[in-house]
Amino acid sequence: MTEIIINETAGRIKKTANAIKKLRPAYSKIVDFYEKIFTAQEKSMAKTDIKPAQLADDIIAIKAKEKFPLFNLSEFSVDVNSSRKLFKKICKIINKSENHMSSAAIEIFAANENKKIDFNELYSALLHDDDAAFVNIAAKLNAGRDALAFITYNSIKPSLSIFAESASKYLDKDNPWEKGYCPVCGNAPVISTFESDGQRFLTCSFCWHKWTITRLFCPFCENKESKSLHYLFSEDEKEYRIDVCDRCNKYIKNVDTRIIDRFVYLPLEQIASLHLDIMAKEKGFESGVPLELQV
Ligand SMILES: [Zn+2]
Ligand SMILES: [Zn+2]
Repeated sequence: MTEIIINETAGRIKKTANAIKKLRPAYSKIVDFYEKIFTAQEKSMAKTDIKPAQLADDIIAIKAKEKFPLFNLSEFSVDVNSSRKLFKKICKIINKSENHMSSAAIEIFAANENKKIDFNELYSALLHDDDAAFVNIAAKLNAGRDALAFITYNSIKPSLSIFAESASKYLDKDNPWEKGYCPVCGNAPVISTFESDGQRFLTCSFCWHKWTITRLFCPFCENKESKSLHYLFSEDEKEYRIDVCDRCNKYIKNVDTRIIDRFVYLPLEQIASLHLDIMAKEKGFESGVPLELQV
């Protein structure tokens, strides 16, 4: 059964990737690359086994009242075994794709083969946001920090999503979160969507949890005033728009899933709309979230 679901998702990612490449041929190379990464992650997800999130009732009540996210990143569980296999696979995908991370991926792959990577230390550095430790590990592996961060984050993304899914049962379904940061892990959203009934959602840049939010709202400064919230869009791409805020000068991309007839796989939409990030930056707006782990 699980095998069928994975193959179905992999097939859908492929179809989506093909549809995007047809629409925007300039993205062919980058979409091919990410199609492989996302498919590997979906396959790894089926083999990922983590301890489900657990919280005591009194802690849940305090967090809900104070609008604190449920977990710190350092509390997330990671299946080190399945993640290290995915780590190796991602190195191979990067090598084959011959992109700006290839030489670092060759070094990292070799270090892994020689058992020079302590995965507990590596994952802990990322989850504790300990950049000094991370830079140190990268230097020891003779690899760039950004490439190592990309491979590391993407190798634990299945664990993060599964943990976030298990954590979401503790969220108060009757009281909307109404915040711009993720109710599970506290990170900023990477993308916004309009879905059926015109409902708006934000998706977390770190654990990919999705939460509902009011339509007129800047997730970065909580501005709700219509006069300082606008959007940029192109007639050619009615499914996308860029929501911008004059108060904090930040933007978030929005995908209207109601008018897309292909399967929507958000990580791919995020990648295949980088021209919108360029457009927003040209107009003087900043991304509300660092994109280094995704791109
Ligand atoms: Zn999150
Ligand atoms: Zn704002």
